[in-house]
Amino acid sequence: MKSVFKRAGILMMAGAFALSGCSGDSKNQSENSDQAASFNKTGLPIVNEPVSLRMVSPKAALAPEYSQMEIFKQLEEQTNVKIEWENIPDTDFTEKKNLLLASGDLPDAFYGAGFSDYELVNYGTDGTILPLEDLIDQYAPNLKALLERRPDIKSSITAPDGHIYGLPSWEENNLGTNPFFHVINKKWLDKLGMKMPQTLDEYTEALVAFKTQDPNGNGKADEIPLSFMHMQWCMDIAGIFGAFGLPDNMEHRVVRDGKVIFTATQPEYKEALNYFHEKWYKQGLIDPESFTQDAAQYLAKGKTTIETLGSYIWWEADEVVGSERSKVYALLSPLKGPNGDQLIGRGNGGGPGRGAFVITKENQNPEITMRWIDQQYEPYMAAQIHWGPLDIVFKKDENGKLVNLPLPEGTSAGEFRQKVAPGAGGPGVITIEDLGKVVDLEPRAQQRVKDLEKYYDPYMEEENYPSIFFEPEELDKINRIEPELIKYVNTQRGKFIVDGDVNEQWDSYLKNLEKMGLNELMEIYQNGLDRYNANLNK
Ligand code: CA
Repeated sequence: MKSVFKRAGILMMAGAFALSGCSGDSKNQSENSDQAASFNKTGLPIVNEPVSLRMVSPKAALAPEYSQMEIFKQLEEQTNVKIEWENIPDTDFTEKKNLLLASGDLPDAFYGAGFSDYELVNYGTDGTILPLEDLIDQYAPNLKALLERRPDIKSSITAPDGHIYGLPSWEENNLGTNPFFHVINKKWLDKLGMKMPQTLDEYTEALVAFKTQDPNGNGKADEIPLSFMHMQWCMDIAGIFGAFGLPDNMEHRVVRDGKVIFTATQPEYKEALNYFHEKWYKQGLIDPESFTQDAAQYLAKGKTTIETLGSYIWWEADEVVGSERSKVYALLSPLKGPNGDQLIGRGNGGGPGRGAFVITKENQNPEITMRWIDQQYEPYMAAQIHWGPLDIVFKKDENGKLVNLPLPEGTSAGEFRQKVAPGAGGPGVITIEDLGKVVDLEPRAQQRVKDLEKYYDPYMEEENYPSIFFEPEELDKINRIEPELIKYVNTQRGKFIVDGDVNEQWDSYLKNLEKMGLNELMEIYQNGLDRYNANLNK
């Protein structure tokens, strides 16, 4: 009996849908005006009568369905907006998102969606997703205030056609401005009666002593004066190029006075390569495996029974040698070069993600949707969306700042975060001003901030290449030219350090780069930067 009724119920509902479909505009209009009466332009709840929105979002492996996540239960209670979540495992998300977009089976919004620049521009231009700037202006006071306070964020999320198609996601902790933390074995220096090197030449002398004077005292020449991972992020010698007046980076791209410079064709770069070959590689001071080793091999070198590492480069010294042994390694400020230069690079990009939330053309309630998502741009809520809710992850201290509660026993911070918050890819922006005032940095991050301030910030390049919203044609050209060109530069960089011959081969190296499209590539980067800077002043 029960099942018959159930079926009848479904049939009746289907009939009702069909009827409403036929009856046309009059009913829709009355529905819309009901909603209009229910909608509050300011304050909470957002709607007096509950409204449902369908949202598609990725979720981390350990995360529950978002409908079960405390932070979203609270938001529903406050706003009266019910989200019908369709959570897709983050590993399958891109594929599923593409399928939905291709089939036209669109939700009201994609949340934590990581839309690429391509997707934002293409789906924005063809009308699949809505331009959001007017909605932000009218219904998103938190986000609007943020964009007014921070024109750089506004410029970053504005498409080349002037529209904003996706909303930002960012934890602006500035921890990555210089990823290349460079350390030296202080215990060995003390044992050999040497002081902390201030110049590149003093550093070289220390490496020679490490190689030749058996500082680990085992009677074998098993010391590795300097090990690194060539052209790998946070493990490369890119920062040390600064001693010759121009730091290098993974992109070989720096900015000075608004001009984009390709580092790997500059005289400073050439001089650095000559030095690294003549003074270091030829004297056996560089671990030859620096050009081939993977992270596992590199990390293993720090954990040999007897210490063998003299100097190395990594994001965090502890990870290479372990927390106990790391006490004998001291951070080096940028070394002063032969011409007195003392510089460290400022990492490129690092701006906000701009595809964290999009509203589709199927959405009948964009105003309600914008008000709902705007709650997550209020700084305290943004912090909870990224790390987890009050009373679970945070408590408020006497100044109202969110400070971390102890973790449940047996969980790591990373794992716990997955269970209680959408995390780093979620909407919401935590600015550098908010960090420390609204929400605490975790202790490890606080130490890094101090180290950056002490060892690197005074010597850091002023500008970097920001995260720029390119046009699809520009992206096509970049993708056509850049991968092969960078691969060639990196291979040559390794060869120049190992084999020398820099002066002999320099001209043909430059010619090859010209043939590979270097000038065209740099023009695109310069145009993109000019556009970005023009947006800043709008
Ligand atoms: Ca030894």
